[in-house]
Parts: sequence; C-alpha cells; structure tokens
Amino acid sequence: MIVKLKNEISLQQKEVLSSFLQEQGINFEYREIYGQSIFLLFSTLLESQIAYFTSLPFVEELAETPKEYLLASGGWKKAPTMFNVAGQLIGGNEINIIAGPCSVESEEQIFKVAEYLHGMGVKFIRGGAYKPRTSPYRFQGLGKEGLQLIRKAADAYGLRVVTEVIDSSLIAEVSEYADILQVGSRNMQNYYFLKQLGKIDKPVLLKRGMYSKISEWLMAAEYILSSGNEKVILCERGIRTFDTTVRNTMDVAAIPLIKELSHLPVFADPSHGTGRRDLVTPMALASVAAGADGIMVEIHPDPDKALSDGMQSLYLEQFKDLVNKANAVATAVGRSLDCDNSSKKTNAKPSENVVSV
Ligand code: PEP
Ligand code: MN
Repeated sequence: MIVKLKNEISLQQKEVLSSFLQEQGINFEYREIYGQSIFLLFSTLLESQIAYFTSLPFVEELAETPKEYLLASGGWKKAPTMFNVAGQLIGGNEINIIAGPCSVESEEQIFKVAEYLHGMGVKFIRGGAYKPRTSPYRFQGLGKEGLQLIRKAADAYGLRVVTEVIDSSLIAEVSEYADILQVGSRNMQNYYFLKQLGKIDKPVLLKRGMYSKISEWLMAAEYILSSGNEKVILCERGIRTFDTTVRNTMDVAAIPLIKELSHLPVFADPSHGTGRRDLVTPMALASVAAGADGIMVEIHPDPDKALSDGMQSLYLEQFKDLVNKANAVATAVGRSLDCDNSSKKTNAKPSENVVSV
C-alpha cells in the first residue's frame, strides 16, 4: 500500500502516522518524491487500519501497491522529469550528448578526448574506470586512478563526468568523481545495488539489461526512485536477439514507448546498441528522430588500439560528423543539441518542472 499525503502536511502529522505504523507493527518507509510525500507500506493492512488512514484529514489517498512500476510511470507524474547536472539541463528540449572512450586508458588518451569534446562544445565525457568485462582476462579498467584521470581531464575542459559504478562497495568512491553514475546492462537487475543507488544524491543513468523487457527496465528504475533518488535517466543500449550479425539489436521503438509510459528522460547508446562502428551514426540519428533526450557514444583517438570496445568506437572525426547530422535531425523534430557548436533552437521547455541537483 502507498499512503499519499497532502502537500501541506506538518512534521507533527507525519509523526502521528509514523508512530501509528510503528505501534501496529507495519513495516514502512517515508519518502518525498517529485514533491509528493508518501509512506510506502510493506505489510497487508487490516480493515481497521485502512479505516484509520482514510479517516485522517491529511491523507490524500491510500493506493494499492502496483505489481509493476508506479513512481516511474506517467500515471504518477505527467510532466517530463528534468534536472540539472552541474549547470546542464537533462530531459529538456536540448538533447544531451555524452561521448568518450569505453575505458579510461591513460592520461594522454582521456585528455585528448576531453580536449576534442571541449572544442566541439560537448558538455559530458564518458569513460569507464571500473569495467564489467565478460571475460576476467580482459582489461578491467584503471579503477580509482581512472576515476581521477577522467575527473582531471573533465575539470581541465569544463566537462561533466559519466562513469560506471559496478558494485555497491564502490558507490561512495565513484560518487566522489562522477557527475552521473552509470549502471551497466549487466547490473540492471541487481536490486540491492539499485536500492543503494536510491540513497545517493547523484543522477543515475540506468542502462537497459540486455535481456530485459521494458517493464523490467522500468521496475529497475522504480527500485531507485522508491529508495529516494528521483534523478534517473533510462538508457536504451540494445538487447540480445537471435541475430548474431550485430552485437546487440538496438530497440529504437523503446524510445518513444518509454516516453509514453514514463516521465523519465530516455537516452540512447548506439555504440553498445549495435557493436559496430558503421552502424553507430545511423542509429544515433534514428534515436534522435525517435525522441531520445540524450545520446551516448563511444569515441577513441585510436580505436584500433582501444583496450575495450574498439570495434564500436568512432574515430574523433566520425563523431564530429555524427554531431553535425544529429543537429539537423534534432532541428527537424523541433529540438536542438546541448552542444555549443550546434545551432540553438529557442522553444525550450518551461523551467518550473526542473528539479535542482
Ligand atoms: C559501457 O558503457 O561501456 C558498458 C559496459 O555498457 P553496457 O553496460 O551497456 O554494456
Ligand atoms: Mn563499452
């Protein structure tokens, strides 16, 4: 059950409810999410308890806990979720661009990428320091040193950092260096981990599990939201199908579908979504056309020598071409790119829905 409270509820009224729940032995958690105060109840209520809640003047509604997602749904919140990350709006009319290598490999490599992105007016750099590799014998990332290097490069060029966190034990460390914490496809259903990410005050970019249905993906987001973190970005990154011609099948339809089902911003990662360099730009453009709020792309100064995902990493010049084309597609669908060197459009969404970070 979920007890929705009226917005003007006082601290004292909250305490009345908390003590009642404690006395009755009802397992509960209190949350404030998107401006709505709620008590999440984890026990079945007796008739008398239901009667008590519904009699209270400061209780707005007593709702059944859904089998699937609620907080992530458009039914819970109509306005698209937007928030700022170090001065850059996520989920607004401008489409965010995140680019960088699969892995941070060296100071030279990440500075080269950061300088290039800065030159293009891109605002976000990506790069894995802790890598979830399928084989334990492949490059596992530079760990903390990688985090330090990407932060240093980002700071030198005024960029924001997106990097993956692969385990609960690393959340504090990664949070120190990252502006957005990425949850990889392999961890999308690691529920304990998702709950821990719900307790932090940093945005989480939640990749779609490679075997996950849309509903499972939204329920993964629900774990983060219901644990208290309202800054969640969904990222389509392709799913496994019977076809092995491509590494993954990019589910472009998931983008407008998520827009129908949820208020959360949805990004697209055509690099993992295809696994092939030649398909990255076409799928990035398709994603922009389909309504993606952001594009995340792997780029490398020397992809053939990359320590991970070289096959799907764009050469820097190819990325410039992608951005130019994406800019034209964004214009065609009434949007623009969050990128200084691309021409801006003026029809930005109203700012009253913005949750400040
Ligand atoms: C990545 O972004 O480098 C990555 C490992 O992504 P995914 O979790 O989508 O495979
Ligand atoms: Mn990668």
